[in-house]
Amino acid sequence: MSKSFLPPQRILHGPGPSNIHPRVLEAMARPTVGHLDPLFVELMDEIKSLLKYVFKTENDVTFPISAPGSVGMEACIVNVVEPGDKVAVCINGVFGGRMKDIIERCGGIAVPVEFDWGTVVDTNKVEEVLSTDNEIKVLAFVHAETSTGAMSDAKTLAQIAQSHDCYTIVDTVTALGGIPLLVDEWGLDAVYSGSQKCLSCPPGLSPVTFNQKAIDKIQNRKTKVQSWFSDLNLVLSYWGSGSKRAYHHTAPINALYALHESLLIIQEEGIESSWDRHKKNGDYFCSKVKELGLEPFGKDEERLPQLVPIKVPEGIEEAKVRSILLNEFNTEIGAGLGALAGKVWRVGLMGYSSSRESIDKLIEALKYALNKSKE
Ligand SMILES: *Cc1c(COP(=O)(O)O)cnc(C)c1O
Repeated sequence: MSKSFLPPQRILHGPGPSNIHPRVLEAMARPTVGHLDPLFVELMDEIKSLLKYVFKTENDVTFPISAPGSVGMEACIVNVVEPGDKVAVCINGVFGGRMKDIIERCGGIAVPVEFDWGTVVDTNKVEEVLSTDNEIKVLAFVHAETSTGAMSDAKTLAQIAQSHDCYTIVDTVTALGGIPLLVDEWGLDAVYSGSQKCLSCPPGLSPVTFNQKAIDKIQNRKTKVQSWFSDLNLVLSYWGSGSKRAYHHTAPINALYALHESLLIIQEEGIESSWDRHKKNGDYFCSKVKELGLEPFGKDEERLPQLVPIKVPEGIEEAKVRSILLNEFNTEIGAGLGALAGKVWRVGLMGYSSSRESIDKLIEALKYALNKSKE
């Protein structure tokens, strides 16, 4: 006989998911109602307005896609990019590479603008690319590159795109809630995020927001969006404001209870305070890491406070340290990916996992694990 799965209480300091606030888990266990129940429709409206608050936008088209962040990425790209559209895509880690793949799968012509892993997107190089090729219509980039810990300058990149009449597609999966993100003020066009990073909600939902400029492009497409599920023209009959809330798919009802609760918690704290907390805790963690004789990877001013990569010192087996942390401290940290595999650990300090108390425990555990790994 199989038995119920009873997971241990892990402390999640990896690249996502982050720990879930007990209030959010409790919300998720509440009774399921029908997805067209008037009470649920009201909840959908509230989720939309809370998402507008965290994204700092007045965009009507702001809602959670019923799928993980990668589907939010797909939704932005498949809707905005038409076959033949030239898209400059900035690649400074895993997720820029994934954007390029999706752009090509939907018939776009990707123009990769590549940077060393661990560095930010160089705005001068982007300016140069957009000014030499005026057929480029869209600029795609990752605000917070979780695979390396690099924080790119989304505000300046958006200004450059606007000065060349380009639309922007922006990955804010790890950014949202963790670092300043001002969708309207910066004029970002199509933006997606994820529930399990700084929102501290279980994975499986992807908040997105589109401004009127992006919606106009989508509504004037010459070709159908090739994904039925992600076609905004169809999804908006369900999530759109003033829509009849006609059946499109069945929303993940209990997952949305969780998202609602996690957004309430951020609203109670204040989005700006959430950014400040991540910054302070990120700085605190880096100072403690240095006291241990370790070195954060990348430049101080370009590093995300919510995802700190640490260089693996000479003579230390990186996987051994992670397994000591997991087995003896129930604590997860992330490994390096791609070009950084084996070279760094990635420590997530996201959402509910970004607290002084949790950092102090993690530092003690790291100290022990480093010593023990040498035995
Ligand atoms: C986690 C992440 C994604 C993908 O989100 P999933 O929920 O894993 O599909 C995309 N972009 C960035 C920057 C991420 O950190």
